[in-house]
Amino acid sequence: MAYTSGGTNGEAHEKVDVFICGSGSAGLSAATWLARYGVRCKIVDSRSGPLDWGTADGIQTRTTEIFESFGIEDELLREGFHNLEVAFYNPVGKEGAIERTRSVEASYQGLSHLPRLILSQARVHDMLLGAMKRFNGQDVDYGYRVQSVKVDEEKAKDLYAYPVTVVTEKDGRKETFEAKFALVHLLISTRLYNIFLEPLSDFV
Ligand SMILES: Cc1cc2nc3c(=O)[nH]c(=O)nc-3n(C[C@H](O)[C@H](O)[C@H](O)COP(=O)(O)OP(=O)(O)OC[C@H]3O[C@@H](n4cnc5c(N)ncnc54)[C@H](O)[C@@H]3O)c2cc1C
Repeated sequence: MAYTSGGTNGEAHEKVDVFICGSGSAGLSAATWLARYGVRCKIVDSRSGPLDWGTADGIQTRTTEIFESFGIEDELLREGFHNLEVAFYNPVGKEGAIERTRSVEASYQGLSHLPRLILSQARVHDMLLGAMKRFNGQDVDYGYRVQSVKVDEEKAKDLYAYPVTVVTEKDGRKETFEAKFALVHLLISTRLYNIFLEPLSDFV
């Protein structure tokens, strides 16, 4: 449930049960899960719209299982490339040639009843956005940049209070949200992935 009111200085002010900053894979998964159970949230992203293309095109079996738990695995299984094997290529000779040196199963035997898939992250996000919409009409609000998040520890002891204050900026205008719960992206996961990927990048 959201309650909107004009704040002081003409700034917009809204009360929401759950505030989610970031419509990446994490934010969209959380929002879809909430939508599945009829819980509305405010999900914002500083981007101007959904992803046109992504990086996380490799879908682990656990991710496929999460889609199954949402009841939306059918289209993922239908559209995704079922990735059974991963092959490694390395340089050979001096002419810049490469050769296939090894191949492994893409997923451990018995790890999951569902396969590992490959599909554009933009399309995967599109499926989550569609599911949210179908479940309870949930949308993402784009063009919002979260500027600060504060938690009032005293208020947090009261289940009915709104202990989180999130200050955002959209089109040069400040908007403040008070939330019972907030999920805020820390820009850590993608950066860690970059660090992890770097030493391997010659061979991937
Ligand atoms: C090159 C590369 C390849 C990868 N390949 C794979 C793969 O094959 N399979 C896989 O599972 N993972 C892969 N990953 C990792 C995967 O992309 C990340 O783990 C995943 O995107 C993290 O999701 P996230 O929602 O936490 O963050 P993000 O996807 O980074 O999303 C965060 C969102 O928050 C928004 N945001 C950030 N700050 C603010 C703010 N202040 N206000 C409003 N919005 C904000 C951003 O605009 C963004 O949309 C890859 C990553 C990279 C870099």
